[in-house]
Amino acid sequence: MSKTIESKREKLEKLFQEHGYTDFKWIEPKTIVVSQWVRMKCMFGCNEYGKNSCCPPNVPPVPECERFFHEYSTAAIFHFAKKVEKPEDRHAWTRKVNVKLLDLERAVFLSGYERVFLLFMDSCSLCSECAETRDKCKNPQMARPGAESMAMDVYSTVRQYGFPIEVRTDYTQEMNRYAFLMIE
Ligand code: SF4
Repeated sequence: MSKTIESKREKLEKLFQEHGYTDFKWIEPKTIVVSQWVRMKCMFGCNEYGKNSCCPPNVPPVPECERFFHEYSTAAIFHFAKKVEKPEDRHAWTRKVNVKLLDLERAVFLSGYERVFLLFMDSCSLCSECAETRDKCKNPQMARPGAESMAMDVYSTVRQYGFPIEVRTDYTQEMNRYAFLMIE
């Protein structure tokens, strides 16, 4: 790794820590796995398809998602582990995590990274009821897609970096969720 990238990362790590993040890793964006099967899972089997204005079909086609990831030279994965008492508690937790991540995205932007882009942990859950289409989004400045919405195979991507991720078989098990900050 070049000295410039190393010193940039050191400064950013300080910023991440100031915002309370310690469970993160740097990744090379070219190692992000983008797959058509992820989009198929969104289209067939997910009840958010067409119901969340940051999810398919309100996001770019798969080849454009891949192109987007390749425009960056670095990115960070943030890991969040959580057990919820009831399935419906997941929305409030996701909202809280994503709102805080938006503060970090802004701080990185203000420190000189004009292309910084956050991929939310899970789908956008900022509102209790989503507007469903991009043009009607109730918080257009804050809304961001999740990694899966951008056709990222999150399982294969995070496993390369030693993060835990398994299919959960019921809601009483701990979730391992991930957000991504694309930085340039
Ligand atoms: S900000 Fe609200 S309306 Fe916009 S995508 Fe997120 S949940 Fe939907």
